[in-house]
Amino acid sequence: VKDLRKKGNDGHHDVALLDEALGKIKGAATAINDVIKVRENQQELLELESKWNGYEFSKAGRTIIKHGPLVKRCRRADKPFYFVLFSDVLVYGRKETLGTVDRYVHHREIQLEHSKVLSISDESEKPVEEQSDDARAFQVLSDQKAFVVMASNVADKDAWVDAVDKAVGRQRVRRGTVDQATPFAAVWTPDREQKSCTICEKDFTVLRRRHHCRSCGRLACKDCTSKRVLLKHIDSKSAVRCCDMCYDDLQDKEDDDDD
Ligand code: ZN
Ligand code: ZN
Repeated sequence: VKDLRKKGNDGHHDVALLDEALGKIKGAATAINDVIKVRENQQELLELESKWNGYEFSKAGRTIIKHGPLVKRCRRADKPFYFVLFSDVLVYGRKETLGTVDRYVHHREIQLEHSKVLSISDESEKPVEEQSDDARAFQVLSDQKAFVVMASNVADKDAWVDAVDKAVGRQRVRRGTVDQATPFAAVWTPDREQKSCTICEKDFTVLRRRHHCRSCGRLACKDCTSKRVLLKHIDSKSAVRCCDMCYDDLQDKEDDDDD
């Protein structure tokens, strides 16, 4: 077509026909690429599923959106996990390599309907070398569990936050979820980030151990977390550990409700 045009044959009937044919070929190529992409994605999924222990991947109406490694901030250390985002849930497991064989041990499933993701800090304007660890971290909040994960870089974090955010939105529409009726669980402060009790400020020791308030996620000693409250979004049946500050707040709230 280019050659014909160069020769000044723009108006030639063949040029138009060739253009049309080229357009069709391009369209067909895109369609074929899409089919290949879907098939590759399915193959990837099947391969991952065959190595994943303790969780059923396939479920009616479920599609896979994104998967990859993220580092989860845990109580004592940062731990690598492998995350899989489906259209209805986010699941993660631990990757184990035995010799040359990878396998995944299922850890947890989070219902997207009751979840939310939040970037911790937006440092996309800063040059890469000035960005903090938080720049590639985000919070996963759900009714039962909340935690912080880190992607390998800011672009990967943005891709995850965007993918989860959109999936949550779509799932809530599908399920007809109106409002976030239940509160989110609190993100637990990692043990190593704090040397003393939030409330009485006494240092933690082998004897004065760290405890997490289930309501606010902060660390406090045993004496300051002796109360138990029923937090229905975390555990509908048994009362859970709560710090004195939260306990007072919750009592105040109940008093207000009574008014
Ligand atoms: Zn204390
Ligand atoms: Zn608390």
